[in-house]
Amino acid sequence: MQQIMLRSREQTPDFKRIACLLLLAALAAYAEMVQANEWKAQRQKMVEAVRIMTLDTADYLGKDTLTQKVLTALGQVPRHQFVPPMVKRFAYRNRPLPIGMGQTISQPYIVALMTDLLEPEPHHTVLEVGTGSGYQAAVLAALVKQVYTIEIIPALGNEARQRLQELDYGNIEVKIGDGFYGWPDKGPFDSIIVTAAGNQVPPPLLQQLKTGGKMVLPIGDLFSVQYLVVVEKHPDGDIRSRQILPVQFVPLTGDH
Ligand code: SAM
Repeated sequence: MQQIMLRSREQTPDFKRIACLLLLAALAAYAEMVQANEWKAQRQKMVEAVRIMTLDTADYLGKDTLTQKVLTALGQVPRHQFVPPMVKRFAYRNRPLPIGMGQTISQPYIVALMTDLLEPEPHHTVLEVGTGSGYQAAVLAALVKQVYTIEIIPALGNEARQRLQELDYGNIEVKIGDGFYGWPDKGPFDSIIVTAAGNQVPPPLLQQLKTGGKMVLPIGDLFSVQYLVVVEKHPDGDIRSRQILPVQFVPLTGDH
């Protein structure tokens, strides 16, 4: 009897500790679930803001809505995981945000518009120049077979590669280098997106674009008007381009 009482007294603290740990784990899981729902709600609001901005810019675009599959992808990618902690609370605002090294993650509307202009298909292989945070690549990865993306600033490129791995994006490959020269080994590409502004369409990128493919890029100086441009490589050998709307991007850097 004495022995039994002794054992139950010894077990009490353990039992309490386990109960406390279970309670803490349940509370943490609950808080995580509440936060995840909050991010999801904010994401839906962001998609709504993109819809409204598309309506507002319909005259430039020649249409008043973006493809539903692009908006769905935008509603799924966790943008809050792609921005630094300091600006996390603004992650779902329809605006660009700083990501360090003087660079930015593009405005959601611009990400959605550029993705839409590429006309992505599930069998496509896409090249992105300007990985930045990896967000644009993640949106594309939800819509195409494979994304190759190049970043010129090693710290940003390596961080994006690790982030994309942790988030399980198995169809994105990140390379550190000057995207002006493209990624010849992986081309030709169904489409190419450039997320930094230069004065011209980089000739190596044009070479690596498939016939029938599209390139979407900002063209113009840092201090003058830049335009978002769609370049199409036609089967008859013609290269045709059209301006979509004025934009503001960080410059395409590198030695060329
Ligand atoms: N797409 C990015 C995202 O989703 O976060 C945003 C890109 S940010 C507007 C432009 C990026 O292009 C910057 O990270 C910059 O370092 C990169 N960049 C500039 N010139 C480049 C070049 N020649 N080759 C590759 N990346 C370049």
